[in-house]
Amino acid sequence: MIEFHSVTKRFPDGTLAVDDFSLALPSHKTTVFVGTSGSGKTTLLRMINRMVDPTSGSIDIDGADIGTLEPVQLRRGIGYVMQNSGLLPHRRVVDNVATVPMLRGTPKRKAREEALVLLDTVGLDRSLANRYPNQLSGGQQQRVGVARGLAVNPNILLMDEPFGAVDPIVRAELQQELLRLQRELGKTVVFVTHDIDEAFLLGDRVVILRTGGKVAQVGTPAEILANPIDEFVATFVGADR
Ligand code: ATP
Repeated sequence: MIEFHSVTKRFPDGTLAVDDFSLALPSHKTTVFVGTSGSGKTTLLRMINRMVDPTSGSIDIDGADIGTLEPVQLRRGIGYVMQNSGLLPHRRVVDNVATVPMLRGTPKRKAREEALVLLDTVGLDRSLANRYPNQLSGGQQQRVGVARGLAVNPNILLMDEPFGAVDPIVRAELQQELLRLQRELGKTVVFVTHDIDEAFLLGDRVVILRTGGKVAQVGTPAEILANPIDEFVATFVGADR
């Protein structure tokens, strides 16, 4: 379980990105942070692997305060997938994934075998494994990005608008892949999007954020749709549709 305890993040320029946020995210479920641009979604996500540290408050993972852990040690158990896949342009697809186990000391040959299995897991044809990232479509690159995220064998997978840059058809395919992966792997997924339909499709729980890092509503998609807490949420989710 990931627990935020009264977490506030104020950036040095004074921007209040997250304001007194407290919430427990259950293990083996997908929690989606959704909200308009600038509502603090990415900041919340990045605090989970200490790419950003809170100004005040604390975050526990399975009872341990992550502020006391070395970021490198913490990130061994956390995969991170971002919008533009984050692939290394001069490495072949298979090696983009294999570098992750190699950093842990796995020999190259075995790391490449592991990488090929992960490419199978995310539904990328092995015939593409020896290409370079720019020889893949955007959707294929995102699959490799997810494979890289899984390569640390994480308990927690952080996903920041991972399907934001692909066309709607590929996006729908990738969403279905993620749902399948979740059924098979049961990771603790924290997913950021500004798309409420994506949030409701993928989230076991959805956290709707307002600008300024305030929580508007938390619940299952069914709960939120049946009972939007205020006008803001009703408008955001299009509850009258
Ligand atoms: P988007 O959907 O546009 O990616 P978001 O909901 O993920 O937005 P964040 O990226 O978390 O929002 O940003 C929250 C607020 O904090 C915004 O006002 C943003 O401008 C500000 N912010 C983010 N990073 C920094 C930074 N390094 N320095 C100052 N302000 C920042």
